[in-house]
Amino acid sequence: MNYINIHKHSPCISNEICIQDLIIGKDKIQILPNKHYSVGIHPWFINNIEQQKQDLVEVSHKKNVIAIGETGLDFQKDILLHTPVNLQLDLFKFQIELAYKHQKPLIIHCVKCFDELIKLKKQYKDSIPWIIHGFSKNSNIANQLIKNDFYLSFGHHLLQSEKNKEALIGVPKEKIFFETDDKNLPIEKIYEEAAFLLKTSVKILNNQIAENYKSIFYI
Ligand SMILES: [Zn+2]
Repeated sequence: MNYINIHKHSPCISNEICIQDLIIGKDKIQILPNKHYSVGIHPWFINNIEQQKQDLVEVSHKKNVIAIGETGLDFQKDILLHTPVNLQLDLFKFQIELAYKHQKPLIIHCVKCFDELIKLKKQYKDSIPWIIHGFSKNSNIANQLIKNDFYLSFGHHLLQSEKNKEALIGVPKEKIFFETDDKNLPIEKIYEEAAFLLKTSVKILNNQIAENYKSIFYI
């Protein structure tokens, strides 16, 4: 069985269909044929803005770049010292516009920023999917995001956090994805835990996620 892993920072392995994430200004941006990528400017790695924007524009139209991200907002104190809110917002909006232009989903990093993110999404029409990657929060936040038509991608927090487990149970199945991010963890572990929580089989869950994947990644 092949598992869909929508966000990881290392190359895909044989039992997964994955989107490898490349961060402009940090990673080597090499787009190989027959592989799928998301490419974006991450709020932790802003170093040479104009060059980074230009580098992103150059690869964002490529067929194998199937999503823009991870991009987003991070309002933790130490990040804000280095990268203030306005700068983060400008760069994020730049990437949102690029995603709309190419009609590709957005993969979003969001720390302490959910109110701002919801406010921002309301300013754009609903023609591309907005996916929160590494969703680690509780049902309350999940519900607000679902009400605003976000997708939620669950990762290693699902194995540890009771609140995160509870959140998954309340999310409509067509809004769910799974990922391993930067963790050295087999993706099937996340599927096994999710299937257990959702009282279904890994196979049925995998089929559902494959449907979700097909419906928003136009490959
Ligand atoms: Zn990541």
